Amino acid sequence: MDITADPVLVALGWTPALAEAFAASAGAGLQPARVLAADGPSWVVAGPGGEVRAVAAGRLRRDSGGPEGRPVVGDWVTVRPGENGGQTVIKALLPRRSWFARGRGDGGSGEQVVAANLDLVLLVVGLDGDQNVRRLERYLAMTWEGGAQPVLVLNKADQHPDPEGQAATLAALAPGVEVVLTSAVTGQGVEELAAMLGPGRTAALLGSSGVGKSSLTNRLLGAERQSIGALRTDGKGRHTTTRRELLRLPGGGLLIDTPGLRTVVMGDAGEGLADAFSDVDELAAECRFADCRHDTEPGCAVLAAVEAGTLPAERLDAWRKLQAEQTWQATRDDKAAAAARERGWRSVHKAMRHPKNP
Ligand code: GDP
Ligand code: ZN
Repeated sequence: MDITADPVLVALGWTPALAEAFAASAGAGLQPARVLAADGPSWVVAGPGGEVRAVAAGRLRRDSGGPEGRPVVGDWVTVRPGENGGQTVIKALLPRRSWFARGRGDGGSGEQVVAANLDLVLLVVGLDGDQNVRRLERYLAMTWEGGAQPVLVLNKADQHPDPEGQAATLAALAPGVEVVLTSAVTGQGVEELAAMLGPGRTAALLGSSGVGKSSLTNRLLGAERQSIGALRTDGKGRHTTTRRELLRLPGGGLLIDTPGLRTVVMGDAGEGLADAFSDVDELAAECRFADCRHDTEPGCAVLAAVEAGTLPAERLDAWRKLQAEQTWQATRDDKAAAAARERGWRSVHKAMRHPKNP
């Protein structure tokens, strides 16, 4: 049978473009598979061979995690089943058509892809709290950058006095983005959401803790979490005990819910800093020097305010601490990236000294 017409692959979102890339890259005995979960040293993949745990070939293991890096949930890979004493080995990454990356948002080396091959990114916010518009805009930008289509999901509609009004307000801030009002409690909007996730379409959930991502997932799943392995009717789908991060919905859509995406929200220190210290920021605008560190600089409006007693000294202390932490984090990211580049070069040199196909 033509492997590229395998019903399991099709159910996982296999496309003609992938079939082409696979045909161009595959060697004898290789099969395509999709990554259901990536947890540290190994992966869970699903393909014509069912659902199995896999390890990565050396080259992929050493990779740094940049946009072309290690396989992440949603990735399509080529695998060699049963190598290494029965273990399935991931040999290569097939080209990503889209992705979601976290990082410093500057497109530089600090980027880390956390999910791949997404059609939609569902940005979930709760209508019970306040909606941070700047954060929302940032997630929209991150989504566009990765090549996926964002959808704004306004959950907990049952908790807002005027959900339609609020939806209209937010829709105006996000041109080109579909807005869906939902309630995981009443079920409002869940069908509309499900309709966006047709067979083979992949969506990821993004949003702060407590906005209702799990509740919406359960609503979309209808009953219990369904494993991809259950797709096989010949009983060959093997079951693993890992938590899958790519779930198959009853309507044939695929939903990614991964801790990597959940923590994007928590890693938002940069923007949080500006939000939390708007008092310091406002004063800083009056400092003589644009790059004033509010330390010993002449004409510092922040120091002047502390002196005058209009800004508590603890506020400046707290601001300094957070600044230092951010600088440290940025330096650490740079160092990690430099080390990864170094490793990358070493493996390239090694490959040149020991050509695989002489
Ligand atoms: P997550 O952290 O984003 O996965 O959020 P959860 O799905 O765990 O939901 C957090 C809390 O909000 C839980 O107590 C849910 O029962 C509640 N919740 C979720 N969706 C809704 C909703 O649409 N309406 C209301 N009233 N509560 C909701
Ligand atoms: Zn200053």
